[in-house]
Amino acid sequence: MTRLAGKTALITGAARGIGRAFAEAYVREGARVALADIDLEGAGQAAAELGGAAIAVEMDVSRQDSIEQAVETTITALGRIDILINNAAIFVAAPIVDITREEYQRVFDINVSGTLFTLQAVARHMIARGGGGRIINMASQAGRRGEPLVAVYCASKAAIISLTQSAGLNLIGHGINVNAISPGVVDGAHWDGVDAFFARYEGKAPGQKKKEVGEAVPYGRMGRAADLTGMAVFLASDEADYIVAQTYNVDGGQWMS
Ligand code: NAD
Repeated sequence: MTRLAGKTALITGAARGIGRAFAEAYVREGARVALADIDLEGAGQAAAELGGAAIAVEMDVSRQDSIEQAVETTITALGRIDILINNAAIFVAAPIVDITREEYQRVFDINVSGTLFTLQAVARHMIARGGGGRIINMASQAGRRGEPLVAVYCASKAAIISLTQSAGLNLIGHGINVNAISPGVVDGAHWDGVDAFFARYEGKAPGQKKKEVGEAVPYGRMGRAADLTGMAVFLASDEADYIVAQTYNVDGGQWMS
């Protein structure tokens, strides 16, 4: 289990959920990891549980100064950044006639601008030290098709798929492979919030929406963060060297249903 031995990674939104699972998997594979999050306390707890191979870094991906500071802190602490996972994102659900400009702006500032400008800062570092590296963006099935009550989040994830294609084509000349992972529905705190929204909006009992969504996945259940770690390790490993500008579904068959 040392496919990432000697590598260093910066993972945004790593205090909990999928980002935290990625950090655990990378440490298991021999990498040293910076867990970056707006929730420094949560990132600190997660890093402490991973031992000496992990550090916590405060980072708000919606702010340029915070992106630059977090990248600099990571390079100082770990020596370099070989792998970036742009994982931090927020979710908003609302009928399209109720979406506010502030909600739209916040989702795009974090999900889209945060991904683009973190990718840019890390790519500049990778190019300056001679090129080479891996960048993995977190897309979503929501970026591949519309959802009636999730327009802004869907649009932000469609932008991630598009950015991955363009950045992948732009940066492969520097030996930097940019790809994305597109999960379906993944259980965790994020989905507890979605379930609470539908409980209010559709008058469902707590837990009902999550149950229905899980049963509708062809695999037969919602995804778990651990279902995604294999793809995140593979895309960062030497085995994925010829893979460029792709978005991979890891979704229990949801995209096909
Ligand atoms: P989550 O909400 O559990 O975790 C997101 C993390 O991002 C949190 O630790 C949060 O503090 C952090 N964060 C939020 N705003 C930030 C900011 N401005 N700067 C830095 N960090 C910030 O989410 P998750 O379910 O683990 O999802 C992780 C990724 O996977 C996201 O990109 C999400 O869109 C994507 N995804 C999730 C699902 C799902 O069903 N959970 C499905 C498809 C895609």
